[in-house]
Amino acid sequence: MAKIIVAGGAGFIGSHLCDFLITKGEDVVAIDNLVTGNKNNIAHLMDNKKFSFIEQDISKEFSVAFEVKQIYNLASPASPVDYQEKPLETLDAGSLGVRNLLAIAKEKNASLLFASTSEVYGNPLEHPQKETYWGNVNPVGPRSCYDEAKRFGEAYCVSFRKMNNSNVKIARIFNTYGPRMRGNDGRVVPNFINQALAGESITVYGKGDQTRSFCYVDDMVTGLYSLMNSPEKGPVNIGNPVETTILELAQKIISLTKSKSKISFKGLPVDDPERRLPDISLAREKLAWVPKISLENGLKKTIDFFK
Ligand code: UDP
Repeated sequence: MAKIIVAGGAGFIGSHLCDFLITKGEDVVAIDNLVTGNKNNIAHLMDNKKFSFIEQDISKEFSVAFEVKQIYNLASPASPVDYQEKPLETLDAGSLGVRNLLAIAKEKNASLLFASTSEVYGNPLEHPQKETYWGNVNPVGPRSCYDEAKRFGEAYCVSFRKMNNSNVKIARIFNTYGPRMRGNDGRVVPNFINQALAGESITVYGKGDQTRSFCYVDDMVTGLYSLMNSPEKGPVNIGNPVETTILELAQKIISLTKSKSKISFKGLPVDDPERRLPDISLAREKLAWVPKISLENGLKKTIDFFK
């Protein structure tokens, strides 16, 4: 049986996608260089005959000796703290890594889904963000290693698709949270939950009036799966269309954890996007997909994980 490759399969979203594909009866191969991924995320799958793991950096050329029907490319550092610590690896993943996986897709006649990001919209001047918006990205700022890598990845995917008439898809992933996020990855949800559970002050950057829209990981996985298995090629926004300020998020987490933590305001990072909200009309219409899990329920599950 032809297999499904999940690049970044030991990562946060990738490992949940592996779980989901296994429940669908698929043969799954996770590929990961474990730079930000972790074998613990897939430890429970290691004895499963339908699952295997290859430790491999996608930005180095490689080949696989089995038949492949689909490739999900989720391999990249994704937290601002991680990608700013590893900017060159991040640029390599979005360029050489994308190219290497597309070459495997072509050789194996497989479909490929590239996980792009809402960061292609930068600090958006259009709100909410539709797929037709070109974005407002600083090409030399601290986030450029990630934003431009993903923009390059998208450009490579559409050019490759045109030149090879191949089945290449692009998802633009908005902020996603849930169990298996690394506690110290620096993103807002693990930071706030860990701070609240430890009774430490909650570090809100800036005034906390910047917004994000948080999608629970199970919803994200079904969104990616729906795109892969539909005729739609994208780019398609996959995210939760409920906008929350960071201050509201902090208050919600304090209340759900019944924490005594106080909020402390810190400096806003350079180029931190002010507002972010996906327009998901395209996903709704073409994939019949909408997120189902509310922020409150998703946070409860994530808090249980971090406990
Ligand atoms: N943020 C914060 N406190 C933290 C971590 C993040 O206020 O301890 C803010 C950050 O400045 C940004 C938002 O939360 O406005 C989301 O940050 P994250 O790093 O999770 O992802 P981003 O959406 O910026 O890629």
